[in-house]
Amino acid sequence: MPETIAIIGSGPAAWTAAVYAARAALNPVVFEGETIGTEVPGGQLMLTTDIENYPGFPEGVSGPELMERMKEQAQRYGARVVPELISAVDFTRHPFVLTPNYSPPVEARTVVVATGAAAKWIGLPNEIRLAKSGGGVSACAVCDGALPHFRNQVLAVVGGGDTAMEEASYLCKFAREVLIIHRRDSFRASKVMANRVLAHDKIKVLWNSKVVEILGDDVITGIVVEDTQTGAQRTIDVGGLFVAIGHAPNTSFLKGQLPLTEHGYIKVAPWRTATSVPGVFAAGDVIDDYYRQAISSAGAGCMAALEAERWLAHHGVGESPILETAEGPVPATEEQVEDYA
Ligand code: FAD
Ligand code: NAP
Repeated sequence: MPETIAIIGSGPAAWTAAVYAARAALNPVVFEGETIGTEVPGGQLMLTTDIENYPGFPEGVSGPELMERMKEQAQRYGARVVPELISAVDFTRHPFVLTPNYSPPVEARTVVVATGAAAKWIGLPNEIRLAKSGGGVSACAVCDGALPHFRNQVLAVVGGGDTAMEEASYLCKFAREVLIIHRRDSFRASKVMANRVLAHDKIKVLWNSKVVEILGDDVITGIVVEDTQTGAQRTIDVGGLFVAIGHAPNTSFLKGQLPLTEHGYIKVAPWRTATSVPGVFAAGDVIDDYYRQAISSAGAGCMAALEAERWLAHHGVGESPILETAEGPVPATEEQVEDYA
């Protein structure tokens, strides 16, 4: 028998989809992935400490704890978890076929792809250790910039694209000074964003420079920066390092089975999670290079499970309370208005 719904991924989008699918009695199976380098089951929040902007946690919550609790919630309602990566999919036939790394291929009537995106890292020895321990290295200024230990510090941002410009501008709210460290002598970023940064009195740019070492045991204390033209090195004291050299959506396993945007994100219908393959839905950072937040990913996971439930009901599997899809909010009928009055 094919699975009714298979969910690929293990971040906020996947676990939220699993909670909704399990509570809708769809008996979901979740392929949560495996630890490979900085890719960890539980997703990007496994690489961070305090989450202060996820609703429901007034005191904040650690990333790994939040993810563990989401997984527990999904399992409590019956979601089954397979600790394997999906290495290939076949969406050209129905039921769809998913091939895990070790177990035999699995058939599924609907699939939610929630494999997220991975922040790119420079690859320095201390980088991931200090990012995981909350030691002042991060790949997300909006997420971490407001934390107390970054306030009134000199903060370094690595990168020369729009993300680096955005991160640097955002950090100016909290930092004493922001240093953008870029490996070339001109930015890749759009003119408007680059000009805003260049005009900011708190931001200084170190051109033709790269970070070659991150200093500090428990907390970052400085960085060693190398001039890419002369090779000269110098140590700069900083209270934080934000790596902003891009994100890569985790879509390589799809191998052309779903249309992607020019940056490799899965294309979905506007304000929906439906992909171009009926019955395949996608949610979270794997469709989103704009918001990239835990709460927006969780919201999209909810949408994907509801869309899958409705799609299944349309195809004779189970029932769904709302079978019609609408372009926007459906106005109340006269009867409903009268009932309410
Ligand atoms: P992800 O969290 O990216 O998880 C997807 C996971 O799916 C992968 O990690 C992997 O384990 C699994 N997977 C991938 N491919 C496969 C496959 N082929 N088969 C099976 N499994 C697979 N957001 C906030 O709102 N607040 C914050 O404070 C915050 N802090 C952050 C700090 C850092 C350092 C980073 C990098 C990000 C932070 N974010 C924060 C952003 C947030 O982590 C992401 O927006 C969110 O995790 C995206 O969720 P997701 O479910 O789409 O996928
Ligand atoms: P990006 O455009 O690919 O820029 C990445 C930057 O990081 C480049 O400047 C690159 O240097 C540098 N870099 C890459 N690898 C590096 C390494 N190992 N060490 C040091 N530096 C490294 O990525 P992005 O800035 O995340 O933007 C991605 C896309 O999203 C772009 O299309 C962008 O326009 C868009 N975006 C838009 C907005 C907005 O409009 N508000 C905001 C964010 C992102 P080089 O320049 O030398 O290659």
